[in-house]
Amino acid sequence: MSETIVIAGAGHAAGQAAVSLRQGGFSGHIVMIGEEPYLPYQRPPLSKKFLAGKVELDRLLIRHEKYYDEHKIEVRLSTRVADIDRNKKSVTLGDGDQLAYDRLLLATGSKVRELDTPGIDLEGVHYLRTIDDVLKMRDRFQPNARLIVIGAGYIGLEVAAVAVKKGLSVTVVEMADRVMSRVVAPEVSTFFERVHREEGVDIRCGRDPNSVLTGDGRVRALRAHDGSELPADLVVVGVGIVPNVGLAEAAGLECDNGIIVDEYCRTSDSHILAIGDCTNHPNNLLGRRLRLESVHNAQEQAKTAAATLCGDLRPYNEVPWFWSDQYDLKLQIVGVSGEHDAVVLRGNPDERSFAAFYMKGDLLIAVDAINSAREFMLSKKLIAMGARMEPEILADTSIPFKDLADAALA
Ligand code: FAD
Repeated sequence: MSETIVIAGAGHAAGQAAVSLRQGGFSGHIVMIGEEPYLPYQRPPLSKKFLAGKVELDRLLIRHEKYYDEHKIEVRLSTRVADIDRNKKSVTLGDGDQLAYDRLLLATGSKVRELDTPGIDLEGVHYLRTIDDVLKMRDRFQPNARLIVIGAGYIGLEVAAVAVKKGLSVTVVEMADRVMSRVVAPEVSTFFERVHREEGVDIRCGRDPNSVLTGDGRVRALRAHDGSELPADLVVVGVGIVPNVGLAEAAGLECDNGIIVDEYCRTSDSHILAIGDCTNHPNNLLGRRLRLESVHNAQEQAKTAAATLCGDLRPYNEVPWFWSDQYDLKLQIVGVSGEHDAVVLRGNPDERSFAAFYMKGDLLIAVDAINSAREFMLSKKLIAMGARMEPEILADTSIPFKDLADAALA
């Protein structure tokens, strides 16, 4: 094969795609172009062990330099793909270089949603998406420093957990009336709020959306509409992400809340594929399109796209899953809730191990498992199989979950 595959982006999905292309037997030229100065790396530790200083940068890398050298994968870092010329089948790089492709794989991921709050540009206000973001803020995580986290999603709460353990005085402010409101049931929010408060985090939900950041060059406080102030030495903003679709849109590819791809990761141009956070993709198991922000999706779409590029069409149909680590708690979420009509709790939150099952009638559609690896693992299968379960029986912990799952899968 003398084909050239250019990969735009060098994040989790891109790294996995390059590996899967070689594993799938692609022997042509692979060029991966990433605007960050790092080889593809895992982002989850950025708000967990890497922020806590418990893991070295080197351990974040998906593969080391030697791997790319040995597998003849050309990696160009600190370089942006600026433009795609679909007629010529070439990309223009930030430094003006042009590169021809036979197939182009877009793995441009996502970027943080930015706040337009006055004061957002003050020194000491941070976002968290990259290694460099963590390196900029980590030294400021000193005992007694006053940290305000804006946004009580996973990333905000993970940052709060790391910070309070390091002795910072932490306040989390959230506009919604409960934490992680977009993704978990009220019972699960209540549990996490309680744990954070017990650890010493001040959680303030239902906060004034008109708050502004004030300071003298450096951030000093978050001031509410009524004039009340929360003092701050440091602010971390975690209010979600938006997919990086600018490159695809400018090239005229179909986009709608992500780059539109089919189940083989093909875009509206048959020579261009897209994977990971930046895609809006169909999932036949769920019967709808969705955009996901998770490692599992980045990895599995990368494998699907690599197979497509190797001429082996395998539709992408994974049950979505995600995890978040906060203190000793591992929250694992499988499936997509939202269309549920009931939530069944199994286990006791006071024992720090329980699961919330999201039901649509008797159909299990999603599960939040807290320190409940068995429930999580079996639920992946149950959701994939479209299992139906009696809500009352599901709540009965005198019956082992494995027995319930076996019966539903029989
Ligand atoms: P990314 O990893 O974002 O990579 C895209 C890369 O492309 C970036 O390096 C970007 O700079 C680059 N790029 C963009 N445009 C261009 C261009 N034009 N030219 C060149 N390069 C470009 N997921 C979980 O499942 N569990 C977790 O616990 C979890 N925790 C997380 C914690 C944090 C702090 C963050 C930030 C994310 C977390 N995620 C987690 C989400 C997960 O990391 C992402 O879903 C995953 O990284 C997506 O991979 P990707 O390759 O699609 O995008």
